[in-house]
Amino acid sequence: MIIDITEIEKLARKRRSENLRFIAFLKEKNKRYIDHLVMELNKYFSAEISCTACGHCCTKLRPILAESDIDQLVKVTKMTRSKFKKEYIEMDEEGDMLFKNLPCSFLKNNKCTIYHYRPEDCQEYPNLHKIDFVERIFGIMENYSICPIVFNVIEALKDRLDFKSGSKPADT
Ligand code: SF4
Ligand code: SF4
Repeated sequence: MIIDITEIEKLARKRRSENLRFIAFLKEKNKRYIDHLVMELNKYFSAEISCTACGHCCTKLRPILAESDIDQLVKVTKMTRSKFKKEYIEMDEEGDMLFKNLPCSFLKNNKCTIYHYRPEDCQEYPNLHKIDFVERIFGIMENYSICPIVFNVIEALKDRLDFKSGSKPADT
């Protein structure tokens, strides 16, 4: 298991073409079986890797917010809705509401200071507990270099499916 993010970023750069081959390899597999394997591996690595010691996603990604998330956040910050939106939210070109700042303004000492009220997008990340992994693989792979759980699940999945022995030599 690798959790050092510098090492993960280095390996992600080196394994770019290997990962493209893996995506093509996955497309040929039974999708329900892959969902089952990914959920099992996600359960294992989520228990092994401490998000509170990592916090990397909160420095690299901005969650999309729903009005129901804002309902919670105005309660916890004790701000008015309009003041909260002015201070913390901006719209992207698709009209989605996002936090303005990266790293997230609510991240302090690697910990989410609004953990119990964090947006649903944050609660769901990295989305490996959901079905349709193969259909979502391109989005998942965008998180391979960001999230140690994703990195380790993908690498373990390659092993479980015996990907490397049946593919071209791995990009070390
Ligand atoms: S709200 Fe919390 S979990 Fe979500 S990005 Fe900010 S610090 Fe991270
Ligand atoms: S979800 Fe991934 S990137 Fe985010 S804190 Fe947990 S291990 Fe780190």
